[in-house]
Amino acid sequence: MPKPNRVQVDALIVGGGVAGLWLLDTLHQAGYAACLLTAGDLGAGQTIASQGIIHGGTKYTLGLGLESAVTDLAEMPARWRASLDGAEAPDLTAARPLADRMHFWVPPQRGGKLLAKASSKLMRGEMRPVAAAERPAGLATVRGGEMFALNEIVIDVPAVLAAFAARHGDRIRQLPAGEQLAMQETADGVSCEAAGVQIFARRVVFTAGAGNEALLARVGLSDIPCQRRPLHQVIIGGMATALFAHCVGKSSKPLATITSHPDGAGGQYWYVGGLLAEDGVAQQPAELIAAARPELSRLLPSVDFSAASWATYRIDRSEHGGGGGLRPSSAVALSRGAYIIGWPTKLALAPRLAEQILELLRQQLPSPTAADLDGLRALPRPAIAQPPWQQALAWN
Ligand SMILES: Cc1cc2nc3c(=O)[nH]c(=O)nc-3n(C[C@H](O)[C@H](O)[C@H](O)COP(=O)(O)OP(=O)(O)OC[C@H]3O[C@@H](n4cnc5c(N)ncnc54)[C@H](O)[C@@H]3O)c2cc1C
Repeated sequence: MPKPNRVQVDALIVGGGVAGLWLLDTLHQAGYAACLLTAGDLGAGQTIASQGIIHGGTKYTLGLGLESAVTDLAEMPARWRASLDGAEAPDLTAARPLADRMHFWVPPQRGGKLLAKASSKLMRGEMRPVAAAERPAGLATVRGGEMFALNEIVIDVPAVLAAFAARHGDRIRQLPAGEQLAMQETADGVSCEAAGVQIFARRVVFTAGAGNEALLARVGLSDIPCQRRPLHQVIIGGMATALFAHCVGKSSKPLATITSHPDGAGGQYWYVGGLLAEDGVAQQPAELIAAARPELSRLLPSVDFSAASWATYRIDRSEHGGGGGLRPSSAVALSRGAYIIGWPTKLALAPRLAEQILELLRQQLPSPTAADLDGLRALPRPAIAQPPWQQALAWN
């Protein structure tokens, strides 16, 4: 008789985006037996679609007004740097960041100098002025405008996902397409079954992003509110140089936030979020592109878009709800019976969410147990998800 595929862990993490992966490493380092199951490719969903900016909080205090503050962000650039430099776990030394700073760009405009001064005062020295001669290519020749360097790094998301997969390959598995995880709460944990593998977990942690809604419904926890806030991002292919900048105006949000991602042929894809992507939600792709072209030319005079190709990408931000549609002020972790539910709120806050969940586990399960992960071998390993610009898009 073949041995049934059985797995026993302290924590089964459901969802392989940045939240689940950082948590897997944290729990493993703390001695807990943990494994992760995900649907689709590793990072599919918000993580691979994100711009990879490790915000230091700046984005939320610029311009003339204050948006709802996101707490805990100020420490995140240093926290991620420690991992990217190998000084702290998780070891992400294999994932070289794309940029070691974002720029805060106030394009030439009436009142621009005053705006820059007000913002820099609000930031209390967090912004370093960048002289015109030191500006990134494409902006060096613009007359006027104000530029500052911010303490915000930009990570290479696929490389970070690959670093986690390399460290924890034996503990990460994919749910075969069409397979659901069956879960039954018992007196001392949750009995789970997926594709013939039986997993007993003392705790099940949902870090499934948009998938948290359906998982909560399946285990009778639909009363926990979830929310989605949509974005319609712009992608520009064929750019000659990289740019990492929040383009700001008289609004509490950046008009356009631009990150750049190598295309493998010496050029860059520019990935554009910010107000353009929020306002773009109501627009069809062609309308959004028609609006983005003149807006970006206005914000970035002297940047040459003549060889560019344009596409758009829709994706929702998935968060804990209940705040009247506003973004939660930090990462959120909730505990209900043998289930723990987590939303990092920002990719940058994945370390904060992992700390919160570790704290809950330490209170609930002070003594970790030994893992039995052999049965996981019956399930496939996920591939790394493709970034939006490598997916099938309509370019024009
Ligand atoms: C366009 C965009 C840009 C962004 N840019 C930034 C940024 O620059 N900086 C920043 O800090 N934040 C950014 N964010 C926010 C950030 O991406 C998210 O906060 C973060 O990635 C959420 O990670 P997560 O692991 O919780 O969810 P996800 O990345 O969505 O991962 C959840 C995973 O769970 C899997 N899953 C779903 N259902 C199930 C199921 N039933 N069983 C098993 N697995 C399941 C999914 O396939 C997915 O892989 C951005 C978001 C968007 C949409």
